[in-house]
Amino acid sequence: MKRMISAIMLAILFAAPSFGWGREGHEVIAKIAENHLHPSVRKKVEKYLGGHSIVYYAKWMDDYRRTPEYIHTNRWHTAPVNAELRYDDSLLTSKGNAIYGLETSITALENYKELSDSAVAVNIKYIVHIVGDMHCPSHIKYTTYDWDYDVVMKSGARVTLHTAWDSSIIRACRIYSSTEWAEEIDLMSRREIARIVSGTPRDWFHESAVRCAVQFEWTSPGSKIDQDVLNSAMPLIETQILYAGYRLAAILNHLF
Ligand SMILES: [Zn+2]
Repeated sequence: MKRMISAIMLAILFAAPSFGWGREGHEVIAKIAENHLHPSVRKKVEKYLGGHSIVYYAKWMDDYRRTPEYIHTNRWHTAPVNAELRYDDSLLTSKGNAIYGLETSITALENYKELSDSAVAVNIKYIVHIVGDMHCPSHIKYTTYDWDYDVVMKSGARVTLHTAWDSSIIRACRIYSSTEWAEEIDLMSRREIARIVSGTPRDWFHESAVRCAVQFEWTSPGSKIDQDVLNSAMPLIETQILYAGYRLAAILNHLF
């Protein structure tokens, strides 16, 4: 029986869509990052992306994760944290995870002049997307909290907690384009931004895991995402999106 239950749990885990922020979240993160790229860096990055912006490719990794060429990146969208809410190498499996994918891509681009143009382009696409995903509350795989349950949106729709964070909460509260949304929230001072981008991706992931653990106070299996929850959830989402945007810009500015 126990084996059957774990088989069912595994089936659910593998079937569950795991797309990180939806289009809205990824594009606004990239838009905020774009606002903070040095002009010369933006020019260089866009040259590698065939003239397109990082916003254009913000969701690309989700669209290509199951194609044979990129199947090795299928698990690079989430990462686990231990009981101290930190990622450590003992959590790495052969399938990789978001931290592994991000660190590998950053290392590759440290010597971008020695890479082919297409290798540079794909690593930029990985970084643009993964920095976003690792700031999504549902992409932090807590090993000490149960996160595999459904919640009920105000509309009555029953969704996984994962989907609620990826897109349902945003779609219930925000109808902006990425440009409009970025304009509304990209308001921090240079000094605040310098504090936010200090540290490493692993530090950022820990900080996110601590901040986002509050989701388990706000929700429980079958609970309703009512207006009170939405009123708390949106500021958390906007903080995560903003921090992701600033940190993405910092990585690209450092690399190029
Ligand atoms: Zn993703």
